[in-house]
Amino acid sequence: MVAWSNNWEKCDGENMEMNEEKKEIFVFVEQTDGVVEQVSLEVLGKAREIANKLGSSVTAIILGEKVQDLARDASKRGADLVLFGESPLLKDYTTEAYSKVVESQIKERDPDALLIGATHNGASLAASLAIKVGAGLMAHVVELEIEEGTGMLLGSVPGFGGSIVSVCKCSKGRPQMATVRPGIFRAIEPSNDVGNGEIAPIQVNLSPLDKKCNVLERNVKRTKELSRAERVVVVGLGSKGDFELPKKLAAEIEADFGVSRPLADRGLYDKEHVVGSTGQSLNANVAIVLGVSGASHFASGIRDVKTVIAINNDPKSQIFKQADYCVNGDMFEILPYLTEELKT
Ligand SMILES: Cc1cc2nc3c(=O)[nH]c(=O)nc-3n(C[C@H](O)[C@H](O)[C@H](O)COP(=O)(O)OP(=O)(O)OC[C@H]3O[C@@H](n4cnc5c(N)ncnc54)[C@H](O)[C@@H]3O)c2cc1C
Repeated sequence: MVAWSNNWEKCDGENMEMNEEKKEIFVFVEQTDGVVEQVSLEVLGKAREIANKLGSSVTAIILGEKVQDLARDASKRGADLVLFGESPLLKDYTTEAYSKVVESQIKERDPDALLIGATHNGASLAASLAIKVGAGLMAHVVELEIEEGTGMLLGSVPGFGGSIVSVCKCSKGRPQMATVRPGIFRAIEPSNDVGNGEIAPIQVNLSPLDKKCNVLERNVKRTKELSRAERVVVVGLGSKGDFELPKKLAAEIEADFGVSRPLADRGLYDKEHVVGSTGQSLNANVAIVLGVSGASHFASGIRDVKTVIAINNDPKSQIFKQADYCVNGDMFEILPYLTEELKT
């Protein structure tokens, strides 16, 4: 494990700069019924990347009734140290109990940053902790960068339904806090070589009074996670909102369906299916992109696709600079042939 000291200069306001001493980035790893949320692993991967640049260490914290095995797994996914807290009072997530335990660790270790996956529970925990410790919180960030000169975290926070993205930093209070949108960053595959992190139990000082509600039943509506789809057909404004032929193609090749943001903004398709910096990021093997211009906010959503096939009627379209295969023509003329050709 990397050794570090918690030797920090406490400062407030615009002049707050990171101490050159060893720094610690905390990641809250969320689990439900013994299954870790994928976004927590993605956040761990990003924390590792940031920590490597800053010379920091990554400490994960995982809570539940029995979570030692999960802690061991997290230690192979980028954490230098995984703190795990076990108690029957932590079996189900409740903001009161979880925030009390994480708050005590923040006070004890004084980490420089705390990153949490932007799930419902993660968002609730982050908001509660930010109030308790008096820290700033960048909510649902879609990018995390390091500010040159200060080493502080800069988070890109989408607002107004994704029509703007503000770059924020937590200039007051500690730790710097951010919740991170799922599907943006890459998780590190478990490996005995990565991190070789340690795991350590933490004391859980909770009484039944700390848990003000009991979970009787949980109904989770899983939203479509395009970021995990193998194949995706994505349509843009070039479709003029006519999805019949693109949908036929998607059905034929068993692909998921995504759209560019303006289609969702105009109410022509569900916002959950938007691809891009303020939507989902694809990691598919293949994406067929139809009638999309390839603006930068869209392009970041297909950056990690292995093979991009684009159809556009403008030979100078930006999308042709991002695609592996470029088809110049009218999507409505080409689609029937393409779908027929791809019939299995
Ligand atoms: C802060 C911010 C965040 C944003 N986030 C996102 C985001 O997450 N995702 C996103 O998608 N956008 C986002 N946008 C919007 C983005 O900048 C572009 O405006 C948007 O991606 C354009 O969508 P489009 O390509 O579908 O439409 P257009 O730019 O209008 O492009 C339509 C394309 O279709 C082609 N076309 C037209 N007819 C046909 C046809 N019959 N056959 C083939 N091709 C045809 C045209 O040549 C053109 O290239 C964001 C913008 C801002 C300011």
